[in-house]
Amino acid sequence: MTENIIIIGSGPSGLTAAIYAARANQAPLIITGREIGGQIATTDQVENYPGFPDGIDGPQLVDLMQKQALKFGARIEMDFVTRVNLQTHPFQLETENGNQYEAKSIIIASGASPRKLNVPGEREFAGRGVSYCATCDGFFFRNKDIAVVGGGDSALQEGLFLTKFANRVHIIHRRDQLRAQPILQDRAHNEPKVNFVWNSVVKEIKGNGKMDAIVLENTQTHELSQLSAQGIFVYVGHTPNTQLFKGQLAMNEEGYLKVDARLHTSVPGVFAAGEVHDHVFRQAVVSAGYGCMAEMEAEKFLAEWEHEHSKQLAVNR
Ligand code: NAP
Repeated sequence: MTENIIIIGSGPSGLTAAIYAARANQAPLIITGREIGGQIATTDQVENYPGFPDGIDGPQLVDLMQKQALKFGARIEMDFVTRVNLQTHPFQLETENGNQYEAKSIIIASGASPRKLNVPGEREFAGRGVSYCATCDGFFFRNKDIAVVGGGDSALQEGLFLTKFANRVHIIHRRDQLRAQPILQDRAHNEPKVNFVWNSVVKEIKGNGKMDAIVLENTQTHELSQLSAQGIFVYVGHTPNTQLFKGQLAMNEEGYLKVDARLHTSVPGVFAAGEVHDHVFRQAVVSAGYGCMAEMEAEKFLAEWEHEHSKQLAVNR
């Protein structure tokens, strides 16, 4: 069977595309990726998604979106796409679970993943002090001294969340000015458990079995120092999940997919939605909007394809 629309990824963009496609009777198939919900599913409190004046848990928001998509007939497969062939139409996909699919159109909503520090000790102490998800791991750091790396919204928001558990939260930032929005800056400056470590980068994570210290370099004096910490949470931006499409779709030097104003990629019938192309806004609500746009364009593509296809069949008869 050839699918009308396959959606790769299950964050706000993928699930919104699924809601629209399902309501348009396209019975879309979502291939979720290794976890459902993408980055928002690892966010503690979402306070700026319209419709939730008291905020909502990231996982709860994902759950509601998923229910809404299923209600209208979307199908959800917990699987990971390992290969695509966009040189042929219908497009071909293969997954980690050994499934093969054909699709007339594809919406790529595979998002972006947290960037790593790439310093000695980071891999060694992953899961033993090094984490990229405060919501998942914060609980393990009750009454501990920990660090957060980064100066953006994620670093501050998750750093503040971690003050619920930790004794002390050192926010290590490579400059002396934060990128985060003012409301988060105010909250962090007013939180007694937060200590800012300015103009500093992590050079090494040290420990014995579990991590216990961070080697820092001052970006101005190049002096090295050691900070005692039992945990480190890394929030230094993202890398788009586009490895799968290398050589088949146009992308920029950082690997973000190139799209036109209507979210068409360089291959007709393949659309992109969310952080897989958007390195500017990166908001759940913006990603949801992109999911809607990509799906509406996919529908137009399908209608044109059906029209051409039936003309061709008539000629061949
Ligand atoms: P981001 O805005 O790209 O910030 C990344 C931070 O990491 C920056 O402060 C950057 O420093 C620092 N950094 C980058 N590479 C580094 C390195 N190698 N070593 C040390 N520091 C490094 O990423 P984000 O905070 O994850 O946010 C991503 C997007 O999601 C943003 O658009 C943000 O607004 C959005 N977001 C919104 C909310 C919310 O609305 N509540 C919450 C979370 C995220 P520089 O500042 O020096 O570049």
